Amino acid sequence: MAKVGDLVHERIRSLGAYVPGKPLSQVEAESGVKAVKLASNENPFGPSALAVEAAQQAVAGVNIYPDTASSELRRKLSAQTGVPVENFLVTGGSTPLLELLPRTLAGPGLNVISSERTFLVYQLATQVAGAEYRVAPAKNNGFDLDAIAGAVDENTRLIYIANPNNPTGTAVGAAEMDRFLDRLPDHVVVALDEAYYDFAEWFARERGVEFSHATEYVKQGRNVVVLRTFSKISGLAALRVGYGVGPAELMSYLARVRSPFQVTSVGEAAAIASLDDNAHREMTLRNNAEQSRWLMKEFCALGYDPVETWANFIYCEMGEDSAALCSRLEHEGVIVRPLTGGWGSPNAIRVSIGKPEENQRFVAALKKVAAEVAVR
Ligand SMILES: *Cc1c(COP(=O)(O)O)cnc(C)c1O
Repeated sequence: MAKVGDLVHERIRSLGAYVPGKPLSQVEAESGVKAVKLASNENPFGPSALAVEAAQQAVAGVNIYPDTASSELRRKLSAQTGVPVENFLVTGGSTPLLELLPRTLAGPGLNVISSERTFLVYQLATQVAGAEYRVAPAKNNGFDLDAIAGAVDENTRLIYIANPNNPTGTAVGAAEMDRFLDRLPDHVVVALDEAYYDFAEWFARERGVEFSHATEYVKQGRNVVVLRTFSKISGLAALRVGYGVGPAELMSYLARVRSPFQVTSVGEAAAIASLDDNAHREMTLRNNAEQSRWLMKEFCALGYDPVETWANFIYCEMGEDSAALCSRLEHEGVIVRPLTGGWGSPNAIRVSIGKPEENQRFVAALKKVAAEVAVR
């Protein structure tokens, strides 16, 4: 008799399993101390109070199916950006939209391109769609747009660019992105994943450079879908709201492939309210920038060479097996992400930038457990 596993399509059987970080409660039980989680780039201050209030009010109406078009949120995003409503598609976090793109544009015989050391969802989504996933080498820990352009052929339909990149925190500037898009043939769509957009904008202003022309690309009618999320800056990760901005015709096809009612009325209400909370956004961004400088300084003082970040996390090569290092950190009640397995950096970690006291806990723990290593 055939085993049921043998009935699963080969392209699914070959998928790597996603290994999530250990939950806070488990680390606390194992270490016996109150733990801090700096592993998933979440907002350390929680959601905006306005979003919580809006969500609470919306809960009373959950007997009614949500507006599957998320019309109110799309109108608000349209008003904020000057991009027409029909260019927006709201999804349950931006991950489902990342998955819709290769299912809609690619398939067997076609290919999708991205970089080494980037977000794991790109490869998974491409494989599930049955398309070939091409990996361009990284340059200076980030995207090498020349290498990506060089990998394009007549069967390429999609390119994923994480800007800033997760897990390395690097960014491509607006002028470089302009030149890249100008070079691409028109049978290729670019998924410009700006999950950390607000953080990068803040750093760009501090550093006196221009970060992104993303919404301009859409207004110009280019083959670009810009993805943003309420999971990071807005602190709504568990409510699952994200969106894409792109060519209206493409967005309407993506909407047909998407499962209906993916975005809840509670999530939509919270997202709308969070757009009005500039104080919450500014506090988050100011803390992130200040604390990134403090963490960079501490890493350097310990003899490491962290990568300058444009997001809300820091990537650092640790010179030792990061899975072992992270499990020693967990013993001290500090959870960070080892970039082993599919991430492709077995000696590196990604630490999310938390509140000052959380970052201090991380540095104190690192000092303690790194000292246990004979050579560094
Ligand atoms: C966090 C993240 C996302 C989006 O996550 P959702 O919670 O699904 O919105 C997308 N891309 C990158 C690179 C991320 O780090």
